[in-house]
Amino acid sequence: MSAHIEIHTEECTGCGTCVEACFVDVLRWDESKERPIVAYGQDCVWCFTCEINCPAQCIEVAPHMPGQRVEPY
Ligand code: SF4
Ligand code: SF4
Repeated sequence: MSAHIEIHTEECTGCGTCVEACFVDVLRWDESKERPIVAYGQDCVWCFTCEINCPAQCIEVAPHMPGQRVEPY
């Protein structure tokens, strides 16, 4: 599983909730910018805990779903 995770840093308040919430450590904390970063998007398990709990609603998880294979015949 993996996902594209978008963090709208201009709306982020730097509360750290998303980093705390992610139990598989996809999200890490950037100490210099005091904002979360997506460190291991390939490990995201689509639980949406980060997205649901972000008080600023500025994190979006878009799961990577492999497209259906089209067989010509
Ligand atoms: S959806 Fe779940 S696994 Fe993925 S980054 Fe958010 S908290 Fe982590
Ligand atoms: S939970 Fe939302 S507001 Fe808080 S650090 Fe994460 S992205 Fe920023």
